[in-house]
Amino acid sequence: MQGVVGAFIAKELSHYDVKVLVLDKENDFANQTTMANSAIIHSGYDPKPGTLKAKLNVQGNQMYKDICHYYKIPFNQMGSLTVAFDEAGVARLHELKDQATINGVEVELLSAEEVLAQEPAINPTVKMALLAPTASIVYPWQITFALFDHSISNGVEVKLGQEVVALRKAQEGYTIETKSGEEFQAHHVINCAGLFGVEIQKMIEPTEDAITPRKGEYFVLTRGAYKYVNHIIFPLPTERGKGVLAVPISNREILIGPTSEVIDDFDDVTTTKEGLSYLIKEIKNTMSTVPTDRIIHEFAGLRASSTRHDFIIEESKYNTGLYHVIGIESPGLASAPAIAKYLADLAAFEQLPRKTNFKEYQPTTLITKHKQVKDHPDYGVIICHCEHVSRQEIRDAMHGNVGSHTIKGIKKRVRAGFGPCQGGFCEPTIVRLISQEMGISPKEVLHDGPNSAVLKRDSKEIFKT
Ligand SMILES: Cc1cc2nc3c(=O)[nH]c(=O)nc-3n(C[C@H](O)[C@H](O)[C@H](O)COP(=O)(O)OP(=O)(O)OC[C@H]3O[C@@H](n4cnc5c(N)ncnc54)[C@H](O)[C@@H]3O)c2cc1C
Repeated sequence: MQGVVGAFIAKELSHYDVKVLVLDKENDFANQTTMANSAIIHSGYDPKPGTLKAKLNVQGNQMYKDICHYYKIPFNQMGSLTVAFDEAGVARLHELKDQATINGVEVELLSAEEVLAQEPAINPTVKMALLAPTASIVYPWQITFALFDHSISNGVEVKLGQEVVALRKAQEGYTIETKSGEEFQAHHVINCAGLFGVEIQKMIEPTEDAITPRKGEYFVLTRGAYKYVNHIIFPLPTERGKGVLAVPISNREILIGPTSEVIDDFDDVTTTKEGLSYLIKEIKNTMSTVPTDRIIHEFAGLRASSTRHDFIIEESKYNTGLYHVIGIESPGLASAPAIAKYLADLAAFEQLPRKTNFKEYQPTTLITKHKQVKDHPDYGVIICHCEHVSRQEIRDAMHGNVGSHTIKGIKKRVRAGFGPCQGGFCEPTIVRLISQEMGISPKEVLHDGPNSAVLKRDSKEIFKT
């Protein structure tokens, strides 16, 4: 299963001389919870001391900088401010500071003057803030692509579009059956199916655990909002979570969200008028001005909240060699590298034979803008004008170990369609490029999953050239 948790586990296993197969029901990497979240590598002061969440968040935070450096992925350590607006809030910040000390996280209390000097857009009634300098931002799908690209180069096999529908005990190990009717044999199985982890578990054994989807809706402010905030801004955390944040996810965009709504439908990632209104109302408590005329996009993600209120990482009580890595809600992204190490210790990966020919990382899909236009003129032909993405970069994004030929896949890899026009200008050209490069009809070009073709019938002369 190929979310960010599966990615770190696959990478960990790729160091050993064993056959590793990753199955996922989606037709792209990082397409479920890993795609839609706040993108924060939390510092680790917030989780309750003594929980796995607290331990692995702090460890994961410490690992990310080197990992992103190795994979040449942007890692923005901007720090976070948790803000209080009354005396009760100030008392709570002191408690959080004590909790940070117990969890081993560096923090500092800032006065109202210090906060406003650094963040002029914060509501001027602010009384105090807790600065956590190690909080950072990383694009979760970028790290997932890099880890799978590297793992596949080291022999890991990935099969997409393979929904696991049955898991059975076999004579030796397990039989895994997928919706396409294929069967796979494995000595060991690692269940890291995100929202569906307990569903997978129930295919083979009883469990008292349950996962509930908790929806988080967001909106994105574009360009003119640049410099609106310089840190990740949190309100005080409550029982319902970390509250509505302002997150500068890149030099150009600010994420506002998420909501926190328990729902029944495991596939419901719709955004709603109510959600948007709630976000605007909540963020106005923290920020004095919200440039709502700059909203370009809305999306939602689903947290895999477990009844144990902590990460569940354990070997099955009933089946040896079956491991569950489930209930990985926030801070699952921040904790993912440490989750993989924790599992590696639990399942004694070290006892496996180590590969003698392990390859260092060489990206097989180009996700860089520094190519020579002189040698490759199509790197100079700009297709996505908002994000300055060239024709050749779009072509490159279709190839390599983690290439994709869907519109959303290209967007995730090279940002074509991420900007203010949201693909309104470049999408027809991208459809044509995918169709040409993959030798398929424009009508077969998908936006994302199966049955998401963007054209229903032949359209205009553009597709005949
Ligand atoms: C609103 C929101 C905000 C968040 N903010 C943060 C944050 O700022 N920082 C942070 O650290 N964490 C955050 N998180 C949590 C973080 O996103 C998750 O912990 C992390 O992405 C979980 O990764 P995963 O690999 O476990 O799950 P996923 O990314 O969901 O991957 C699971 C994979 O399993 C596959 N799968 C499921 N069932 C099957 C099946 N039957 N057969 C085959 N494949 C299957 C899915 O297709 C999917 O690809 C947030 C989450 C949400 C929803």
